[in-house]
Amino acid sequence: MQQDDPNITLITPTAPMAAQTHGGRAKCLQRLVRLDLPVPRTIALSFDAVHGIAAGDMPDLEALIAPFSAEALLCVRPSSEDPDWGGPGAVLNIGMNDAKFVELSDRLGKEAASELYLRFVQAYSTHVARLDPDIFDDVDSDPVVGLGQALHAYENETEEDFPQETSVQLAEVLRSMARAWEGTTARLLRQAKGAPADAGLGLVVQEMAFGLGQGESGSGVMQLVDSATGARRITGRYMSQSQGRDALRAGSDAMFLMRDPRGPSLEEVAPEAFAKLRGYTELMRVKLREEMQVEFTIENGEVYVLDGVRVARNARAAVAIAVTLADDGIISREEALMRIEPRALNELLHRQVDPEAPRDVLARGVAASPGAATGKIVFTAEAAQAHAARDEPCVLVRRETSPEDIRGMHAAVAVLTERGGMTSHAAVIGRGIGLPCVVGASEIGFDTSRKTLTLRDGRVLRKGDTITIDGTNGEVLAGAAPLLEAARDESFQTLMEWADAVRDIAVRANADTPADAEAARNFRAQGIGLCRTEHMFFEADRLTVMREMIFADSSRDRAAALDRLLPMQRADFIDLFRIMQGQPVCIRLFDPPLHEFLPTDRSGLLELAEALDLPLSDVTRRVEALGEYNPMLGMRGVRLGITVPEIYDMQARAIFEATVEASREGDAVVPEIMIPLVSARREVELVKTRVDAVAAAVRNETGRDFTYRLGVMVETPRAALRANEIAPHVSFLSFGTNDLTQMTYGLSRDDAGRFMSTYVKQGVYPEDPFHTLDVDGVGELLRMGAERGRAVKPNLVLSICGEHGGNPESIAFCRAAGFDYVSCSPFRVPVARLAAAQLVV
Ligand code: PEP
Ligand code: MG
Repeated sequence: MQQDDPNITLITPTAPMAAQTHGGRAKCLQRLVRLDLPVPRTIALSFDAVHGIAAGDMPDLEALIAPFSAEALLCVRPSSEDPDWGGPGAVLNIGMNDAKFVELSDRLGKEAASELYLRFVQAYSTHVARLDPDIFDDVDSDPVVGLGQALHAYENETEEDFPQETSVQLAEVLRSMARAWEGTTARLLRQAKGAPADAGLGLVVQEMAFGLGQGESGSGVMQLVDSATGARRITGRYMSQSQGRDALRAGSDAMFLMRDPRGPSLEEVAPEAFAKLRGYTELMRVKLREEMQVEFTIENGEVYVLDGVRVARNARAAVAIAVTLADDGIISREEALMRIEPRALNELLHRQVDPEAPRDVLARGVAASPGAATGKIVFTAEAAQAHAARDEPCVLVRRETSPEDIRGMHAAVAVLTERGGMTSHAAVIGRGIGLPCVVGASEIGFDTSRKTLTLRDGRVLRKGDTITIDGTNGEVLAGAAPLLEAARDESFQTLMEWADAVRDIAVRANADTPADAEAARNFRAQGIGLCRTEHMFFEADRLTVMREMIFADSSRDRAAALDRLLPMQRADFIDLFRIMQGQPVCIRLFDPPLHEFLPTDRSGLLELAEALDLPLSDVTRRVEALGEYNPMLGMRGVRLGITVPEIYDMQARAIFEATVEASREGDAVVPEIMIPLVSARREVELVKTRVDAVAAAVRNETGRDFTYRLGVMVETPRAALRANEIAPHVSFLSFGTNDLTQMTYGLSRDDAGRFMSTYVKQGVYPEDPFHTLDVDGVGELLRMGAERGRAVKPNLVLSICGEHGGNPESIAFCRAAGFDYVSCSPFRVPVARLAAAQLVV
């Protein structure tokens, strides 16, 4: 070996070696060598060396193999910078040839020697000579017989003798592995896992320890934790007379490691080897500060550690492992926090499709609300309720959902829509109530009249067919896919407490109903950042009164309907205040256009005509009159509040009466009232005057004093630009980034799903701006609004309550912009708490 070539290095405790130059495996092996573990002699080839090999620049192989003993066989394994990026499969038993076969037959027995040679011939043929593995189909399972057949098959195919020189064999193996890494498929695969386009590959050449031969010989893997739960438990497999990862192959007759009533174990067969291995694995855990899986070989009773890799784990195990390592003082709490990807917590908060199980993907759409559920297809909210009444899980399938579907959504276990994006109705409600949801599945042909779904491949799904919705990955799966339960266990709670102890931006929840508020409290939200009051009117009995209010011809009729709505709203707010136990509750005044509460189809119109005792033609005419060309930019939000002020008056009264009521029981409640869709200062002044008047009236009537805070939702670009004019009238600004994104881009949030994936694929937008805050454009407005508002009112409270509030990247942005809190769906609160903590660590 070229002693001073930094690209080809014998792994010693002091050799210069880094994951960025030689790959993670080489670096890890060096750590094991430093721990004085029995690692067979290993040489590491750097990324540069391997790159050179792929380009035809082969190092001096005689020199490379010189440090290994003459009798040794070698293996070559990949060593990419991040082990998750993969790499070509390992090739074992390099150096095996006719002469070694004779020599090893004497030492290990003919059968073991034949096995070693046979395996090498097969691996070399398929990985290096790229022969079809089929050519070995007829090879006898007895290696002594099979070896001759395999060599013959090789020679037949290649018309060459099987190479006998170790240096030639090694050169070919190195070349083939180096080239495999540079191939397009391998590159795309690793890029999909986050590797950069020019990620390098290192290789390690290691002296083989034989797992075959005399005495107790074999191979296996050991780890100290369960990969599925993270619980401390020695797991792994061992197989006598085996090599590599044989013991892990399905159907292998591998043993348990520890004593186990179900079968023989390494602990019984070779107790000393077992004890040593356990010690090594413990040592690695402490010194490498990570749960490691040890790959080992036992040769005639002697233990060798071939490799150590980070234990594979799901999110639940990752949390348990991080918390236990911190509890044991091996890593700090801060490091434990940093080791968990916030989004991975979704796996703990919701049921998930078992990632190990095979999946028959019928269609893909936008992953709008995480979690998975299986149910029968239903096409209407009524059918969903009927199924729920029979305790039959169902999936509500709609072109898109509207407020009328809410009850159906509550009854269903999951929702699938043809249209919509991250902030469409189905998506927002789904996330709010923790319901798995896939939206914008436009590749499915929805025929709602025939009640069929036609898939791309021509398959047709009908009402009553069973499907699984995977809202985490945005997939629709055939039948009942195996699911893993949610796991909000003790480790999860502990990690969350640690997160709360360090973070410096508050996290509230968007919650509209008592159930949402309970969820918000359970997830330790620090209050409600957005209560969308219109969501409180979807119950059947309320909807009718609401419609009466909308249809009122005179202010007297309207007042009568509002009088009936008032106690309902008051009761809602009392509930919310009670559940939140003194934490802030921010109530947004009515936002959507009125016609959203009216039916659209004939049967609905007829029902309404009956309920209101009006002629159908009247009802139809009124509904048409209320329709708008572009309701998103029409009479909604504060515009409605100014045009039909009685609605906000009623809501303000309900809030204040609830405040008085809830304050009787404990600490004084200080409600926050938020005005939606503001674009001009005067709107705020007008609403404020009326709300103040209602407050004064309620104080008068009840003889009780109270305070409240008024705020504005910044959802139009103009409100952000004019924040300096608005701020003097309010105590807080909350950025509604759903509408603000829609208006900044001039892009309808309900229709964006149709072309968003094309836009993202073609790089027009780096990501869906309804999902990840567009920091350049929308973010600029946030910054401007924040700065202009605080310039005139330094103690102005700033927050975000659009769907972005739960996204780690957006939270980082808001914190940097000096925001006081973020508010997101209750089920995203834990993700936000962890993401916020990571910004401080
Ligand atoms: C928003 O626009 O960001 C918001 C939170 O309000 P909504 O989604 O109800 O329009
Ligand atoms: Mg909005």
